Amino acid sequence: ELEVMLKRHLELGRRIVTEPAAHIFVGEADLRRAVERDEFVIHFQPQIEIKTGDVVGVEALVRWQHPDFGLVFPDDFIGMAERLGLIDDLGWIVMRRALADISRFSAKAGRNLSLAINFSSYSLQDARFPNELFALMAEYGIQPATIIIEVTETGLVQKLASSLDVFARLRMRGVQLSIDDFGTGYSMLKQLRLVPATELKIDRSFVQGMINDDHDRILVQKTIEIGHELGMRVVAEGVETNQQLAFLGSRKCEIAQGYFFSRPIPPDELMRWLGLDST
Ligand code: C2E
Ligand code: CA
Ligand code: CA
Ligand code: CA
Repeated sequence: ELEVMLKRHLELGRRIVTEPAAHIFVGEADLRRAVERDEFVIHFQPQIEIKTGDVVGVEALVRWQHPDFGLVFPDDFIGMAERLGLIDDLGWIVMRRALADISRFSAKAGRNLSLAINFSSYSLQDARFPNELFALMAEYGIQPATIIIEVTETGLVQKLASSLDVFARLRMRGVQLSIDDFGTGYSMLKQLRLVPATELKIDRSFVQGMINDDHDRILVQKTIEIGHELGMRVVAEGVETNQQLAFLGSRKCEIAQGYFFSRPIPPDELMRWLGLDST
């Protein structure tokens, strides 16, 4: 009982710090203005190689710095951006900003950190996507292999046929491809094999359930096995405890990401987290 209470207390505290108390209902005109004026900020969450404990890269996660509401989280506006046809513009705003930041991090760190970045499956259907990305990478002096494009399993399955050509061209240049929220999209292995992905990302709901729930644990284990059999590396998101980390390591999951290491944080804070001077 006490444990349950403590856990709830912790969860509440965590929500106050990182998430808005309630969902915010933003207007369409508001979002159009935000894209026009670029009211977005990018937070970065470190990705850690489990075997060595090294930070190997970061995931970029967008937030909307709303003039009245403060920080608005993506679950409250990504869907609307997709419906309004703004998701493509937003995607490139995020990419440009993240490329500028990652080149700064890597220069300071003296080594290449990878940049994982989320894209809507809408954007990845566009035949112009690869060339636009290659042009931006050249502009910022970024090697293609440092970029990991994340697309959700659900989005992937819905738009598979029209995206395969884009994926092939990205892979040909060495850009990496990650299947996000794996396990939530009811895809078939038969379809999955068509995708030239380099990475599987286990959804955080399974990572958080796996210690106490047999089904979640089996799903996590099987995902790691499937990923490895298909020649992919496996990333676990939402790692919050040492116990979860140890279990993932024992099953040879390569990369972990989650509050156990760090929440998504602004670029300057990330620099300090990495032990780098942020000036
Ligand atoms: P996602 O790509 O699955 O990102 C992981 C989410 O889990 C993030 O939420 C992150 O803050 C949260 N998270 C990370 N570690 C932990 C942990 O240990 N515990 C818990 N409870 N949560 C953790 P966030 O930043 O609110 O993003 C939500 C979703 O919005 C993302 O899910 C992604 O699908 C989408 N998104 C974020 N940025 C972008 C973007 O630039 N473009 C697009 N198209 N989608 C984005
Ligand atoms: Ca993601
Ligand atoms: Ca995910
Ligand atoms: Ca998600």
